[in-house]
Amino acid sequence: MKKPLPFTNEQLESWAKTYPTPFHVYDAKAIRENARRLKAAFAWNKGFHEYFAVKAAPNPHLMALLREEGFGSDCSSLPELVLAEAVGNVGESIMFTSNDTPAEEFQKAYALGAIINLDDITHLDFLEKSLGGKLPELLCCRWNPGPLKGGNAIIGKPEEAKYGFTTDQLYTAYAQMKAKGVKRFGLHTMVASNELDPQYIIDTATLLFDLVVDISQKVGITFDFINIGGGIGIPYKPDQVEQPLEKIGAGIAAAYESHLKAKGHPDLKLYMECGRCITGPYGYLVSRVRHIKRTYKTYVGLDACMSNLMRPALYGAYHHVSVPKYGEKGTTYADVPLMHCDVTGSLCENNDKFAVDRDIPEVTPGDLVVLHDAGAHGHAMGFQYNAKLRSAELLLQEDGSVKLIRRAETMADYFATLDFPGLRTF
Ligand SMILES: *Cc1c(COP(=O)(O)O)cnc(C)c1O
Repeated sequence: MKKPLPFTNEQLESWAKTYPTPFHVYDAKAIRENARRLKAAFAWNKGFHEYFAVKAAPNPHLMALLREEGFGSDCSSLPELVLAEAVGNVGESIMFTSNDTPAEEFQKAYALGAIINLDDITHLDFLEKSLGGKLPELLCCRWNPGPLKGGNAIIGKPEEAKYGFTTDQLYTAYAQMKAKGVKRFGLHTMVASNELDPQYIIDTATLLFDLVVDISQKVGITFDFINIGGGIGIPYKPDQVEQPLEKIGAGIAAAYESHLKAKGHPDLKLYMECGRCITGPYGYLVSRVRHIKRTYKTYVGLDACMSNLMRPALYGAYHHVSVPKYGEKGTTYADVPLMHCDVTGSLCENNDKFAVDRDIPEVTPGDLVVLHDAGAHGHAMGFQYNAKLRSAELLLQEDGSVKLIRRAETMADYFATLDFPGLRTF
């Protein structure tokens, strides 16, 4: 069951007077409550720290809100590092998990005191050279378990993934780091995306505990932390259920005792870098029906398109459609007239569809529709193909008002990188 919308049709209409559709709106209160639930589930681990994956929703207002809840930033590019710095996340409040990394990004991460999470064994030398012959005191390596771990449907098999060190390479790398004077160590892996099976996350942490114990013994180091990555899934479809964070927390706590503490490794901190499950369910794409077209099929054409939310076109992803003029029934679809249709945008690409062959509550041109679960990897994936401009982002605050946290792009933004007569006046 999709949870009810945190706003009414009337509220949306009043916001739309100032901020024309389409726009994304994020529910601050729900994001905070969810952040607190995550922290509570891992409170058993004294050093627990979530690093919000900036790529999921790279808006400093959201990052600042999450920082107030104690979350750091997981960055993988220079602009993401700059965003983290701007909201006050510096030092070990930044996890820099990048791949195919240029020198200047390592330099910026080092200058900020970020935790550098290496993607490859050759990056150790590259990092040292990039930093003029030194290394940070703390380093982390990204592990690719290869055939040891079956990947999930989205990421695929780990051995086919471009990320991380092989198991053998890890032993060599930690020994080299130790020899070069690195003092503190972390181990990271991320083998799933949008995973809805809690046991998968628990098993991943267990594998990391086992590996930490083995590397510690063979290389003669102890670990500061493990970072279990992101990848906790969210229930996009009405029949899917939310990940039981409490159960994941308890399962990892049990593995921590039996696979780490019982084997003599000292306490270590548990880190994660989730994005989707932090903001995903609490962001909505609000759009208006422009046209209804009846040819061989019925098409509901919106004023949003895949530049506002690309996941359906990219992955065939399901995003629930609510029609708020029906109140809660516009989400549950109970006792409302339905229409069978494709819900489309206006981009000249036939996969610019938010829903295909879906029954949605009946709409007419001018009605508002809401696409659920657009709070992560939604606006962030926006692009300008076909000269479609990226939409505004609003924050629904605890007092019920909305704040503009990113304005919509204008034609001037679109032409900003061009210098051509006739395009300067916009
Ligand atoms: C994408 C990504 C994340 C966040 O993944 P979610 O599915 O949004 O939780 C975390 N870490 C790394 C390295 C990533 O690439």
